[in-house]
Order: sequence, then C-alpha cells, then structure tokens
Amino acid sequence: MCRLSVVVVCAALASCGDAPAPEGGVVRSGSIDPVIAADIIAFNQQAEGSASFRQLGIICRWELPISVFVQPPVERANAEAALKYWESAAGVRFAFVGSDESPRIVFREGTDGIAVVERGFGARSGIDGTFADNRARSGFVVLNSVAARCSLSDPLCVYIYRHELGHALGYLAHNKIPRGLMSEIGERSTTFDQREIDMVRQLYALPHGARVEPDGSWSVPVR
Ligand SMILES: [Zn+2]
Repeated sequence: MCRLSVVVVCAALASCGDAPAPEGGVVRSGSIDPVIAADIIAFNQQAEGSASFRQLGIICRWELPISVFVQPPVERANAEAALKYWESAAGVRFAFVGSDESPRIVFREGTDGIAVVERGFGARSGIDGTFADNRARSGFVVLNSVAARCSLSDPLCVYIYRHELGHALGYLAHNKIPRGLMSEIGERSTTFDQREIDMVRQLYALPHGARVEPDGSWSVPVR
C-alpha cells in the first residue's frame, strides 16, 4: 500500500507541473509493485506493437479524459459500450468529440492491415502518434465491415470492441493469461483478468515520460 500511495502522490504532483530537476538528472521518481511493473514493461514500455510511432524505453499513455471520435458507419453504441466498460473497470475516462482532430482515438471502418479472425470479423488497433514525452497523440481502432456493424447481442462483437480499445489505450501486446481480455491464448473472453486492470490503472497513475524498471522503481529523466 505504501508503494501505491507514493505513486499517487507523485502523479498528483505531476499534474501541477514539473518540479525543478534535482541532482542526478531525474525530475521525479517512485516505486510500484514489481509484478505490475513487469506487465507495464512487457505490454507497453517495450511492446513491439506501434513501436515505430513511439519511443521504446518509456511508457506511453493518454492524458485523461481521452477524446474519442467515431466515424460512421461504425456503430457508435458499440464503441460507447466498450468505453464504459474500460471506464468502470480501470478508471480511464473518455469524452466523445465531433471532429477527427488529434489528440484522439478514432474508430473507423477499413480493410487496411486486417486479417479476418472468425465469422468474418476483423479489426486492428494501436497508437500511431505521440508527443515528445511519448504521450499518446493519435490512436485508432479499424474495423472491417462485419465488425463495424455488429450487434452487442453477439459476444464476439463485445469482445472485439473491448479488446481493440485495450490496444488503443496502451495495452499494446497480448498476454498469456488463460481468460484475460487481452490474452493471446484465451477463448476471446469479454471480461478482464484482474492483472490486466492492475496494469492499466498503474500505467495511468504514472507521469508521462516515466521509465519503469523491473524492480518496480520508476523515474522521469531530465529532457
Ligand atoms: Zn489484439
């Protein structure tokens, strides 16, 4: 609990602006649970997904609330349901916007880079633009025509929107949790594993530009 409270305090301070750089070239620092740190490193900081658009070695997340633009004919209700699910589970807040201007996550229909996975469904997602401190600037969820128009009465439809939004939020790779939402070996679960939630909550409690180490320590280097 002590470790978590240190992070919360530091994150709160970060919102007030950067403190003067102390000796040693580190602006801020703290410590988190090493298990969660390992997941942040594996699925965000060092993840290959979207790696050409961001810096590896430091975290990449959005400033909250995250602006979301849904481009027709993508079913807005499907996107909204997934946003609410992440919001309630991980505390990540969203706001719909009426124009496609960054920073934002855009839901759009397309076929670019999409492989059909099951029953005609196909989608991909990620972060494809960042600011200098690795803060996310552009994210996307691309859905093929089947996924763009699917019904939430179909569990695969629920899964696609929740899973792909997870990537766009910063869970940039797949884990091996048997029943997790972001798993590569699970059976397309529509619900989170607690470890996935812990990772996202901690990711969003860290300041932009933070580098996380395997022992749980983190720091924001001087730029
Ligand atoms: Zn995926």
